[in-house]
Amino acid sequence: MCGIFGYIGSKNASEVILEGLKRLEYRGYDSWGIAVVADQIKIDKKVGAIGDLNQLINLPRSNAGIGHTRWATHGGVNVTNAHPHFSSDKSFVLAQNGIVENYQKLKSALQKKGYKFQTETDTEVIVRLIEDKLKTASHLTSGKVDLKEAVRLAFLELEGRNTIILVTKAGRIIACRNGSPLVVGVNGEEIFFSSDTLSFAPYVNRILVVENGQMITWNGKLQLRDIKSNKDLPYHLEKIDFKNSKVDKEGYDHFMLKEIHESPYVVSQVLNQDFKLYEDFIKTLKEAKNVYTIGSGTAGIAASEVAFYLRVFAQVNARSVIGADMYDYYDLLTKDDLIIAPSQSGETADVLEVLEIAKKKGVKIASYVNMPGSTMARISDHPYSAHAGPEICVMSTKVFTSQIAWGYLIAKVASGKSKEGRVNLKKLVEEMDKYLNTNANHETIKNLAKILAKHKDIFLLGKYQNFNIISEGMVKIIEGSYIHAHGIPAGDLKHYAITLMEKGVPVIAVVSEDLARDDVINAVNQVKARGATVIGISPAACAVFDHYIPVPDTGETSAIMNIIPLQLLAYYMAVELGHNVDKPRNIAKSVTVK
Ligand code: GLU
Repeated sequence: MCGIFGYIGSKNASEVILEGLKRLEYRGYDSWGIAVVADQIKIDKKVGAIGDLNQLINLPRSNAGIGHTRWATHGGVNVTNAHPHFSSDKSFVLAQNGIVENYQKLKSALQKKGYKFQTETDTEVIVRLIEDKLKTASHLTSGKVDLKEAVRLAFLELEGRNTIILVTKAGRIIACRNGSPLVVGVNGEEIFFSSDTLSFAPYVNRILVVENGQMITWNGKLQLRDIKSNKDLPYHLEKIDFKNSKVDKEGYDHFMLKEIHESPYVVSQVLNQDFKLYEDFIKTLKEAKNVYTIGSGTAGIAASEVAFYLRVFAQVNARSVIGADMYDYYDLLTKDDLIIAPSQSGETADVLEVLEIAKKKGVKIASYVNMPGSTMARISDHPYSAHAGPEICVMSTKVFTSQIAWGYLIAKVASGKSKEGRVNLKKLVEEMDKYLNTNANHETIKNLAKILAKHKDIFLLGKYQNFNIISEGMVKIIEGSYIHAHGIPAGDLKHYAITLMEKGVPVIAVVSEDLARDDVINAVNQVKARGATVIGISPAACAVFDHYIPVPDTGETSAIMNIIPLQLLAYYMAVELGHNVDKPRNIAKSVTVK
């Protein structure tokens, strides 16, 4: 799930690309590289995350170039494997986002033809394949082999979800998309190519979202082409307003803390949705034979809570499935079904694959996405936008909160209790705001984070509305502190995980004043009897808690409130351990590979 970036314009390309890559860094930070066009193509590549803007880049001033930030899938993390990759004659350089699934087959065929490989990446296979097409392609333009045609022919042979971008030594840019995202931003004579719109947000006022199966080129002007038919396509540059795209820590130590503090704002953005636009969707929701909520990672947990709200408040028999695990449902999908997909990026490969298959079967699709211009939004029958503002920390916090608050409200709207839902969310916004701005809450959580950061295993207990909340708490602890955490359904504890309980084992119990309260307290007593140390997150203190994190009782929206102390706990643990809070190791924010 790398990020790719390209620039043509009067500014110094390497600086613009470096800044763009910094904004794309959430997509991967194993290594990065920039290539610019001067008298010849010059490249600078480095291993690790992108430094700040005054990091030394040894590149000349130029008006054209491309860049890449890598999340390695094929080949170790080193400078050789870092993108962009040169063609043998150094006439162009190429960067890729995706996986060439048939790279081994293509590589063997090319090796048989005598091509030599310098890297372990699947990307280099694309470069050599283009070179091969350049030699063998029959399309000649005034005696010269047409590079664009060679790229097109090579791209047609790639299997998997891929997007590529290349720049030639004449300053021409060619990019193709099939799966991974590709957007173009325009500001007068300046052209930007990127994996997302946010990376060029400060500079552009019009965008073009390149669709799957399309090629975009710049050679003095932009040209869009259908890759298969090789026909030019008309295009329209959409006006875009990026006023909500500020990416700045605003005085917080980390984006994660800033974004948790934005939770009340994102819930109020849910309240600002124009629910007149939901009428058709609510009708489809109520009439659907099967309703599936789908997501991956944190969005998968949000999807599960959305299904919970639909079952409990709207009597809709919704079930949640994680994106990568839909295979067994494919044969069951029909045009009478509905899929609801919450997503931060709208580009998650595992989920997009499900949606593409479902769409072919006529399944209706609704999505709730935070990133403007995303693929998911574009293929949805009912695309809704979270308007939560950029989420920069790789660990999702405010967008998760937005997704579950949205799920709560659509369930209330579907049950005809829209007004009640709104009143409850308004109260939640006030309580959350108060909670986040009370220093004592941070101090309590910080002190517990210090204790928990010393442990090897942390357990979490929850039930009913809070089961997904403890699962997400588990995910946040694992992501931020690299400590093993395990979310246990409170009622199931006695069936297996009780064997793990012994003196001093930390167990976090999330206890709301709801119908599951006594069950969770039972489980707490069972772990206490085996010597566990219990941290209770609850509106009411309880004698069985060894440590207590108070939270306000917000009734039906309690689960949405309860995620906040768990996110803060994960944050303070990551800080305590000295980890890179906004960029935990090995993960990336937008997972555009399978
Ligand atoms: N497969 C390429 C590599 O490993 C790109 C990976 C990606 O897009 O995540 O370098």
